[in-house]
Amino acid sequence: MSKSSIKTIGVLTSGGDAPGMNTAIRAVVRACSYYNLNSIGIREGYDGLINNQLSKLDARSVKYIINRGGTFLKSARSDEFRTKEGRMKAYQTIQENEIDALIIIGGDGSFRGASVFYEEYGIPFIGIPGTIDNDIFGTDYTIGYDTALNTAIEAIDRIRDTATSHNRVFFIEVMGRDAGFIALNSGIGSGAQDILIPEVKDSLEELFSSLEKSEISGKNSSVVVVAEGEELGNVYELANATKEHFPDYDIRVTVLGHIQRGGSPSCMDRVLASRLGIAAVEGLTEGKTNVMAGLQSNKIVFTSIEEAIKKHNEIDKELIKVAEILAR
Ligand code: ADP
Repeated sequence: MSKSSIKTIGVLTSGGDAPGMNTAIRAVVRACSYYNLNSIGIREGYDGLINNQLSKLDARSVKYIINRGGTFLKSARSDEFRTKEGRMKAYQTIQENEIDALIIIGGDGSFRGASVFYEEYGIPFIGIPGTIDNDIFGTDYTIGYDTALNTAIEAIDRIRDTATSHNRVFFIEVMGRDAGFIALNSGIGSGAQDILIPEVKDSLEELFSSLEKSEISGKNSSVVVVAEGEELGNVYELANATKEHFPDYDIRVTVLGHIQRGGSPSCMDRVLASRLGIAAVEGLTEGKTNVMAGLQSNKIVFTSIEEAIKKHNEIDKELIKVAEILAR
């Protein structure tokens, strides 16, 4: 679609919610206003597109949301959009409402959906990476990740206070089913004795020797941060195995869970979401489609959706070394 033919942009949030999604919607809507485009909010992800749950948005409709967690448009996992019939209904909604292009704020699943839809109906779209996991290729950071890290270290700091008071070993599970970014960074940021992530092959022997080392060096409490997707075992299994090996240890488990998804977005996330929201609108007006707007080395970069979905962000080996050096 040529530059001049885009008059109305529809925006939706889809998949797992992340702090900063509201900030991104606000940026999209205000950028549309700046460039004299209409913006339409689509509620509940792809379900809203299928069921025609739309509302026109203007610069004032997005006031007071820059600092609010979650997404005021609501998010959804839509089974219907996975079907041809569902996507046909979505296309009808787009035609009836004269939507020329879409901005999809979500994770790789949402981008996969957008890509299938694009192949079938050719509606231009740009993706904005909104997920706390930071597991999307083509951007150094995803929206929500920084906030989740800050929430995690605040929680771990509190747990450490009680761990130190009772000579305890705490196993703390943080989010990340496929990726260890939250675990590795929150573990370093909170001074964890050990950090277990799916990208690194761990062993119980190494874990036990790390805990032993910490005891010998005079530590009277330890925190072990475990990513949800750790392959050696889940946080309870790891805690049980450790208790069997060290029957004298007072071991506790905390699963941080959904608190990592909520809360007011950090300044980093607000700035990121603001920049990516504007970049997505500008990208569409310049004729870009089937791409994701991301930030690399602090510059806006567009990556093909195919790459964003298929490739993976690698864990930085230097960070693993940092964690090892500091745990003594
Ligand atoms: P996230 O975007 O957080 O990774 P999901 O993986 O749940 O979340 O994907 C969000 C939604 O995207 C799904 O509920 C579905 O509606 C849509 N989607 C994902 N994959 C496909 C696909 N292959 N075809 C059509 N729609 C899809």
